[in-house]
Amino acid sequence: MSGDLILNWSSNPTGRKLMGAVGLPTPQPLDRAEGPWSAGALEGRSACVNAGPHADVLSSLISGWGGAVVDLGPEAEDGTKVHALVFDATGMDSVGQLRELYDFFHPRIRSLRRCGRVVVLGRSPDDTADVEAMAARAALVGFTKSVAKELGRKGGTANLVTLSEGAEDQLAGPLHFLLSQRSAFISGQSLHVSGGEGEGTWSAPLAGKTVLVTGSARGIGEATARRMAAEGAKVVVLDIPPDEAAIHALATELGGIPLPLDITDASAADKIVEAAGGRVDVVVHNAGITRDKTLGRMAEGLWDLTLEVNLASVLRVTEGLLARGAIPRGGRIVLVSSVAGIAGNTGQTNYAASKAGIMGLTHGLGARLAPEGVAVNAVAPGFIETRLTQAIPMGIREVGRRLANLNQGGLPVDIAEAIVFLSSPGAAGLHGNVLRVCGGNLLGA
Ligand code: NAD
Repeated sequence: MSGDLILNWSSNPTGRKLMGAVGLPTPQPLDRAEGPWSAGALEGRSACVNAGPHADVLSSLISGWGGAVVDLGPEAEDGTKVHALVFDATGMDSVGQLRELYDFFHPRIRSLRRCGRVVVLGRSPDDTADVEAMAARAALVGFTKSVAKELGRKGGTANLVTLSEGAEDQLAGPLHFLLSQRSAFISGQSLHVSGGEGEGTWSAPLAGKTVLVTGSARGIGEATARRMAAEGAKVVVLDIPPDEAAIHALATELGGIPLPLDITDASAADKIVEAAGGRVDVVVHNAGITRDKTLGRMAEGLWDLTLEVNLASVLRVTEGLLARGAIPRGGRIVLVSSVAGIAGNTGQTNYAASKAGIMGLTHGLGARLAPEGVAVNAVAPGFIETRLTQAIPMGIREVGRRLANLNQGGLPVDIAEAIVFLSSPGAAGLHGNVLRVCGGNLLGA
């Protein structure tokens, strides 16, 4: 159960009615997946796909994951409901063609179930020199974000996947994730698939992999370590030495490797390589701190420590692991940014600078390591219910939750699910993406 009282009350029909009557927000409790990935992630779920260029591929992927592809005709007034609407806009390069969005969604959008999914597939405006095509492609962003806002009240999400020409074989991973219940708190976002090698794996995607999760004694890191282990990984549980007891307890429970270590330690990369036995297939840079003060009142130590933990050590450890050849081809690096790095925040000049720096690092490393078969991407959490956000004064905390399309904060497992996806074989086509996991938060949108 979340620490959000309003969400807890709205989980039962009487509570919802009462809250609606007194004008309180009634967030829709989200359907989240439980347990590890399974080959039939879409079993019992249905999707309607438009007649775009990739209709056959999309339909066969959905059926392959156990989903039913339903033909919801435009006149479908028979009350048929679907879990997902998938729209392939990869053939839309003129402004006039945008009408096809209206023609498909207008008669069907109300057939979407609670906690339903909309996935729009398009091309990136950056991949064309034709100005009209740029306009048509860019329009998909505003469209998808608006659909996300309209669906949020009922727990639904809408996201855009842009596909480079020739990257079609890497579409399956992002589609699988965005249609599943593992993307419950991701809405109004875009992922760009630029191409890569290998195929998605739909059960035990991390079997045989060694995964480092920094800052995994608690919060998002702990949730990530748990999910990684459930997907077959051997997890290196790294956190600061004062958390040694929690580190050992979690590593023992997960069959992983305990590593009490301050990530700012100058020899951190060596110690990680040694603990991991020479190879780290997936690196998750989750450790992070806040040291909030308005700039004029911020002691230099608060600035330095925040930049050192959140950014400088991430760069140093990553370069150290790469230089030691510890991250093999097919490896993954997932960084943890924040919506504060996108939007900025009063009292967080140090934190926001460090988290915006993480986005720069993601873009730079993503492009540099793509030819080496290593995919580097980031998650940017919005308001997530952890000790970090429990420390925020109640009024501001309440605003933080309700500013999102989904009207609630996320759970650590929502970030963990996104990190598992970005670490999986199916994420081979993603390089330099920053995926916001924020419920469609207004901050930085
Ligand atoms: P948390 O405080 O619960 O956990 C962070 C962990 O990092 C702690 O266990 C801490 O001991 C560890 N850590 C800190 N400094 C370290 C160091 N020098 N070496 C090794 N480990 C260190 O916080 P959380 O909410 O789980 O946050 C995890 C990440 O997500 C952070 O990077 C944070 O900035 C980011 N984030 C969180 C939210 C949110 O709403 N909770 C939002 C945006 C971004």
